[in-house]
Amino acid sequence: MGDIAAAQSMELPTHMRAMVLEAPGQPLRATEVPVPRPGPDQVLIRVQACGVCRTDLHIVDGELPDPKLPLIPGHEIVGTIVHKGEHVQEFCVGDRIGVPWLGATCGRCPYCRKEQENLCNEARFTGYTLDGGYAEYTAAHQRYCFRLPAVYGDTEAAPLLCAGFIGYRSYRMVGKDIERLGIYGFGAAAHVIAQVAVYEGKRVYAFTKPGDTEAQEFARQLGASWAGDSTELPPEKLDGVIIFAPVGSLLPAALNASTKGAIVVCAGIHMSDIPSFAYRLLWGERVVRSVANLTRRDGEEFLAIAPQVPVRTEVRIFGLRRVNDALGCLRRGELRGAAVLTMSDPHGR
Ligand SMILES: [Zn+2]
Ligand SMILES: [Zn+2]
Repeated sequence: MGDIAAAQSMELPTHMRAMVLEAPGQPLRATEVPVPRPGPDQVLIRVQACGVCRTDLHIVDGELPDPKLPLIPGHEIVGTIVHKGEHVQEFCVGDRIGVPWLGATCGRCPYCRKEQENLCNEARFTGYTLDGGYAEYTAAHQRYCFRLPAVYGDTEAAPLLCAGFIGYRSYRMVGKDIERLGIYGFGAAAHVIAQVAVYEGKRVYAFTKPGDTEAQEFARQLGASWAGDSTELPPEKLDGVIIFAPVGSLLPAALNASTKGAIVVCAGIHMSDIPSFAYRLLWGERVVRSVANLTRRDGEEFLAIAPQVPVRTEVRIFGLRRVNDALGCLRRGELRGAAVLTMSDPHGR
């Protein structure tokens, strides 16, 4: 294997194109940077596609503390292994893999020992505290990469890696027995999870920004029983809710739309302040919780179910160099489904 790896590495360039965040609040800048050198437990991946997640927007806007700087964002990475470290056993050169948000955990802290590695005290995150996939190459630890179902093309698979994984964790947290699932914010994660929920026999109620009839129509196309404005009440009370939109005022609205015992999950990494609300909205054993990050098990479970549904991802493709345009579309709520960067046509579309 040493010979193959050496031969592979000899063909690799020393430098690559990347879109780099130099300081929060600034657009990403096209930069030539060295191709990362994988450590003993890492694989070097030639990136084919990388999804653009709302979390990237929060990082770029300075809403999340202490990112690595300068930083290559991007944590929905699909690519091919071109080189691997000496301890890598899980994968071979040539394998197509996916790299998600969770990039490393300590394996020793109380959370890691309780199967809550998503809460690890020393967790590192792709495209936030580790360089990510807005680049031609990236390095990732072998234990935090996933094999991807062959039925998905590279750009279609990218949104599965965060919108899918964290959406799925949020969906599981509302409980298996629910019948009426409310989803506030119908973006990338919602469009994936609505399909899983409908497949599992749930009725889906989709709430969008007031007047966003296009997103409401999209939700109905994906099987939602009802779609309307976030200021409206659904025709039936909800017994589980996921809030994907980073808008704190949606929490009291979601509680108001819920039955006794309902679980309301706040799925975003960042949310504006939650306004005060009457205790009666929480009374009746309603539960409010957040979902943070993902465990590898969430990813494995989701990748097993996604092809059965089958989950279809709706993607809008941008060339790598156009990432600032993609982030702008996401910020303005102009995307249907997910934005994905492609490396094959960096200036394209
Ligand atoms: Zn830990
Ligand atoms: Zn994400």
